Amino acid sequence: MSLVVAKFGGSSVASIEKIKNIACRVRDMKMKGQQVVVVVSAMGDTTDDLIQLAGATGEFLNGREMDMLLATGEQQSAALLALTLNNLGCPAVSLTGWQAGIKSDSAHSKAKINGIENCRIKKEIEAGNIVVIAGFQGISPQGDITTLGRGGSDTTAVALAASLKADRCMIFTDVDGVYTADPRIVPEARKLNRISYDEMLELAVLGAVVMQPRAVEVALAHQIDVEVRCSFNHNPGTIITKEDKMEKEVMVTGVAHDVNCARFAIFDVPDQPGIAKTLFKALAKEGINVDMVIQAAMRDGRNDIAFTIGRDDLQKAVEAIGKLVEEIGASGMSYGDDVAKVSIVGAGMQTNPGVAADMFEALADEGINIHMISTSEIKVSCLIDKDCVETAVRALHRKFELDKI
Ligand code: ADP
Ligand code: ASP
Ligand code: MG
Repeated sequence: MSLVVAKFGGSSVASIEKIKNIACRVRDMKMKGQQVVVVVSAMGDTTDDLIQLAGATGEFLNGREMDMLLATGEQQSAALLALTLNNLGCPAVSLTGWQAGIKSDSAHSKAKINGIENCRIKKEIEAGNIVVIAGFQGISPQGDITTLGRGGSDTTAVALAASLKADRCMIFTDVDGVYTADPRIVPEARKLNRISYDEMLELAVLGAVVMQPRAVEVALAHQIDVEVRCSFNHNPGTIITKEDKMEKEVMVTGVAHDVNCARFAIFDVPDQPGIAKTLFKALAKEGINVDMVIQAAMRDGRNDIAFTIGRDDLQKAVEAIGKLVEEIGASGMSYGDDVAKVSIVGAGMQTNPGVAADMFEALADEGINIHMISTSEIKVSCLIDKDCVETAVRALHRKFELDKI
């Protein structure tokens, strides 16, 4: 009998009506003779609501307690789906991350899965149950509940598919699959029938929230094909899989954008060995991930260093760098979260010169100023003003004729 892991995101379980809809879908899979393990996210905006509720308790939010709270969202939807399945006459059992044997490290709010002790899940499958697992959560070596970062139920699903050697892993969401850009911003965006792990990973890292980047990493590491599809219809979705062509004809596969970034600049930094180390070690000590980095050309023995970080880390960075500005002899700093990153991704661009120039041209034609640029073999990213981001995404989509692929 084949085994399917099916994950349903927050919008797919946002109400009891929607839970009833997916319960019928899961029942149909089971009736076709498949064994089904379901992973669910919290209902609708429950995670955001819980974060807001916690914020009302005061400024200091302990990581352990936050995870204890946030994990309840997924437990609710798992139990509600199991109850609904039972009412449809399907034997089903819900499990928390802990009961499902999902072992993580102890990095609260961004824990990584170390392994899955799947014997309980297997036992429930053998007993004929549909197993409904609360996504986004694990258990630390200390026995505390952890959460896997925003969008972490995707990672739960792919890791379970790897651990259980499932025949299929399906991510059900509110769009038909992975598109050439966020379809909410570009209505003419096209659904991709398939996309390589590498391209999907870049798109996800660069802001395409349809898949959590770590879920794609797990899929790549275990060579698991993942299908992203819509929970509200039966249209075929997008298969995330290994590259199928030796040579890529398409230069650009998609456009991604990220509004959760912040800029930081330090002025008149002395041009001496060890200064960059001091600054970036201080950020690393606070667990702050640095994304784009620019060091301006030296003038009079000094230069400016600018970089981007996640918006949520801005306050921590201000504190960490603020302490160092005087010590390293810089003249000052500036920062803000009024920026966004827009990126083009495509495996074909590494052998096609001029792709970056075309990107800059498309932005210039819209009068959009570029603050920073970073490139890799398969992407070019530009930091721009946040209020231009939607115009930029649409301009790039047009420039690379992504509505025609
Ligand atoms: P879920 O709650 O199912 O996990 P998410 O909101 O996390 O759903 O992800 C689905 C959303 O991702 C879509 O509604 C869409 O707006 C957004 N998205 C961003 N980029 C893309 C893309 N390239 N293709 C498809 N969806 C995208
Ligand atoms: N509920 C969590 C979130 O909103 C996890 C998920 O949806 O995957 O980020
Ligand atoms: Mg998601």
